Amino acid sequence: MNPTVPPEAFEALKKIYDDVDQEIQASGVACWVRGLCCDFEKTDHVLYASSLEIAYVREIHPEPFEGGSCLCPFWKDGRCDERTRRPLGCRTYFCDEKYRDQLEAIYEKYYRQITEVATQYSLEWSYQPFVKVMRGD
Ligand code: SF4
Repeated sequence: MNPTVPPEAFEALKKIYDDVDQEIQASGVACWVRGLCCDFEKTDHVLYASSLEIAYVREIHPEPFEGGSCLCPFWKDGRCDERTRRPLGCRTYFCDEKYRDQLEAIYEKYYRQITEVATQYSLEWSYQPFVKVMRGD
């Protein structure tokens, strides 16, 4: 956890997430509701998140979740239980391959904006495997 994150930085991150969600919606990509994207036992996908994003989640989930699992602690019954604060990587990850380049471009654009918030508020910066960090592994 980064205890020095000011509320303004979280507000800026929230605004970025709102913009991401709007751009995703406008892109036309749709979730197929297969529940597979977060099934990290079956998919070969490691979700990374920046320290600012992790701090944003930690603000309301301060304690580490039980360790020893590759599954996201917010993945419940095949659905995400933390839609509001889920990281950029979750928001831009969809099964539909035909959107891959577009989603990568959206990811890169907003990743840059998140780094700029961290720079603006002189925050420590790292990029870490989200599940491991959440579980304190
Ligand atoms: S935060 Fe939600 S969307 Fe992201 S990996 Fe966890 S369950 Fe999936």
